[in-house]
Amino acid sequence: MVRAERVCKNFGALAVLKGISLEVGRGQVLCMVGPSGSGKSTFLRCINHLEQVNAGRLYVDGDLVGYRQKGDKLYEQAPRVANKQRRDIGMVFQHFNLFPHRTALGNVIEAPIQVKGVRKADAIARGRELLERVGLQDKADTYPAQLSGGQQQRVAIARALAMDPKLMLFDEPTSALDPELVGEVLAVMRQLASDGMTMVVVTHEMGFAREVADQLVFMDGGVVVEAGDPREVLTNPQHERTKLFLSRLL
Ligand code: ADP
Ligand code: MG
Repeated sequence: MVRAERVCKNFGALAVLKGISLEVGRGQVLCMVGPSGSGKSTFLRCINHLEQVNAGRLYVDGDLVGYRQKGDKLYEQAPRVANKQRRDIGMVFQHFNLFPHRTALGNVIEAPIQVKGVRKADAIARGRELLERVGLQDKADTYPAQLSGGQQQRVAIARALAMDPKLMLFDEPTSALDPELVGEVLAVMRQLASDGMTMVVVTHEMGFAREVADQLVFMDGGVVVEAGDPREVLTNPQHERTKLFLSRLL
């Protein structure tokens, strides 16, 4: 579902991604960890067309991201094509970014109606199903300010799912939450994974990574330092940088 081949991204003179190669199979969960500034968010943003890679190739479901290839030459991707590809990717951020003036249900139905042209009645029916799936069927008419952080993040997940994505990206989805609210969000993500969603999750929740991830990637300084089965990486890290990072998390 995702294939990165020596992906590089720089901002001016600052090289942020220095040749990231990885693959995420359909239905798999990849968890990405690493110190602040290592390029994790930038990598997710490249997958989601929010940044364009400068070198290397990035594919989602076989489609090149950010460029169009003709022969062995690359050309800018038409915005129409980029937008179409982007619709199939759901993203959940650390700060939930809900529309404050819309109810929970209003947030969930917005994009299907505006972007996909789904009929309002259909969007509402599906929106209610999705709110139920994240355990918020009784909060449909509640505004974000009246919801806890964990509830807001679950609305954000339902909102992303409303576009029927084939890939979900999570950027530290529980980092802004009070500790007692982390579990309810991880439980929704765990369920989503077991329902077969392909997911790339930047997180420092090692329990989640250990149980749910098919692959754990440790990034530092814009490179993949170590990747593999999460249980192996966590119990037997091979690199000093990984050991140091993990020891600081505990
Ligand atoms: P992480 O998510 O691992 O903490 P980021 O991907 O957010 O790391 O950032 C990696 C590096 O890229 C940081 O040094 C950050 O300051 C820099 N960076 C990110 N976005 C931009 C941008 N739009 N312009 C300039 N530098 C950026
Ligand atoms: Mg980040």
